[in-house]
Amino acid sequence: MKQWGFKPEQMDADVVGRIPVVLNYDSRYFQDRYQAVPREGYTQMITNMLSNKRIKVMLGTNFMDIAHLQEGKVYIMGQEFRGSVYYTGKVDELAGFVFGLLPYRSFKLQFERINVEYFQDVAQVNYPNQYDFTRITEFKHIQPSESKDTVILKEYPLEHVHGENDPFYPVFNKESRGRYEKYAEFLQQYKQIILVGRLAEYKYYDMDDVVARALDVVEQAMQG
Ligand SMILES: Cc1cc2nc3c(=O)[nH]c(=O)nc-3n(C[C@H](O)[C@H](O)[C@H](O)COP(=O)(O)OP(=O)(O)OC[C@H]3O[C@@H](n4cnc5c(N)ncnc54)[C@H](O)[C@@H]3O)c2cc1C
Repeated sequence: MKQWGFKPEQMDADVVGRIPVVLNYDSRYFQDRYQAVPREGYTQMITNMLSNKRIKVMLGTNFMDIAHLQEGKVYIMGQEFRGSVYYTGKVDELAGFVFGLLPYRSFKLQFERINVEYFQDVAQVNYPNQYDFTRITEFKHIQPSESKDTVILKEYPLEHVHGENDPFYPVFNKESRGRYEKYAEFLQQYKQIILVGRLAEYKYYDMDDVVARALDVVEQAMQG
């Protein structure tokens, strides 16, 4: 209830189905046999992937401020763009909200640096009942460091308000699924746009799912 802001009986079966029921002493949340993170973290991995002089990165730029869609064509910086567009933002925003807002869940992310070597015994502790935050993550357990301090993250769930906070998770219900279908159908006229990721495909992807999806998309692109 704290995470999603509504009662269990109002939740979509897909959301409830993602909550693992575990009958063992394995303290890990995910049950996958092989579990890992990139050696130097995701930020470094993405930095390495983008460090090619043929790739131009524009940070702090909303795609919708430089692009617009019109009658089956995509315009970027005022010019028609004929290449492929891999879009990872909100699908309703891309389509100019023609069918209304899609609900997404947001979070206030509060990082705290604490002057102790370790704050908790494991990477993540969930707080389903107490406090306003849902969990505390301590990154030192994931990315070891020799610092005498530690950094923790508290996540406070919030309703997503367009333009005010970041969207994180799609909020599934009958109405939002129906609305997404309308957006997906509407965007089919823009053949060059490929929707990728949880905001664009309105799907609940974990990291491994979204990496697999990205690799599939690349493979399809290479096959032409
Ligand atoms: C708090 C939290 C904890 C999580 N913990 C885990 C975990 O422990 N394990 C796990 O497997 N997964 C976890 N996830 C899920 C994981 O983060 C997602 O699966 C993954 O980030 C999805 O990747 P994505 O590319 O779909 O979306 P994102 O990572 O959200 O990427 C979308 C990108 O598009 C950019 N973008 C959006 N709109 C625009 C625009 N208009 N203009 C320009 N750029 C735009 C955004 O800035 C962002 O960089 C967690 C997610 C959250 C929110």
